[in-house]
Amino acid sequence: MVVGPAAWNDLRGVHASARDLSPDFEAEAKRLHLEVVVAAWDRSEGRTKYVRAKKAAMKVALKTLTEELARYDPAFVRRIGFRRILICAGLSKDGSRAWGMAVPETGTLIYNTDAAQGGLSTVRHIIHHEIGHLFDLSSSTPGSADPPWMAANRKGWDYGDRASAWGAGKLDHHDLGLVNSYAAWHPEEDKAEIFGLMLTRSDAVILACANDPHLNEKVRLMDLRVRRIGSPPEGWPSWKRLK
Ligand SMILES: [Zn+2]
Repeated sequence: MVVGPAAWNDLRGVHASARDLSPDFEAEAKRLHLEVVVAAWDRSEGRTKYVRAKKAAMKVALKTLTEELARYDPAFVRRIGFRRILICAGLSKDGSRAWGMAVPETGTLIYNTDAAQGGLSTVRHIIHHEIGHLFDLSSSTPGSADPPWMAANRKGWDYGDRASAWGAGKLDHHDLGLVNSYAAWHPEEDKAEIFGLMLTRSDAVILACANDPHLNEKVRLMDLRVRRIGSPPEGWPSWKRLK
């Protein structure tokens, strides 16, 4: 999910104090030059709500964030404009729960510690999904302003199926050109899902590409763009395997 800069202003956090964080996470954030903000209070402001994360949930979140952020090169993070992490719980916008959000204007990844309810693979995926938004929206072809991407879809098909906008992080591959139903919502989500799945389930994505020229073209574009930035995240599949 992508939110505008107002949501950042709504989310009144404080800079993390040492007791909120772990030394490993702090070292990782420092390596990537990321500012860390921890939501300090339960708030309901504007269209975005959140609460302060509980200590135990925070511990789990920091461990996973540390492991997944370790896969990124500082140069990649800098070039996509990723600058901050906000950690909170109970995140929602307009009444819809969100396990993560990206605020491209401020280079912020908002991480909801409740994501742990979806299991470890969901948590890992959410982190990369939101970074995928920052990557896409910092590019010269953000969101739907991306003729090659839009042309990769089937003729006559269009985004906007909010009713089926669930299943992020899964690989249902229910429709030609899409990794899952969540990707059908918006080009931004389509790209973030592919970026995330390339880092969590790349074998399955590549397998799905074999019988799907539309998806294959999108993955090819994504791969090209990630490599153009340079220093792809650790575990990004090699070009050869994409045919
Ligand atoms: Zn998203």
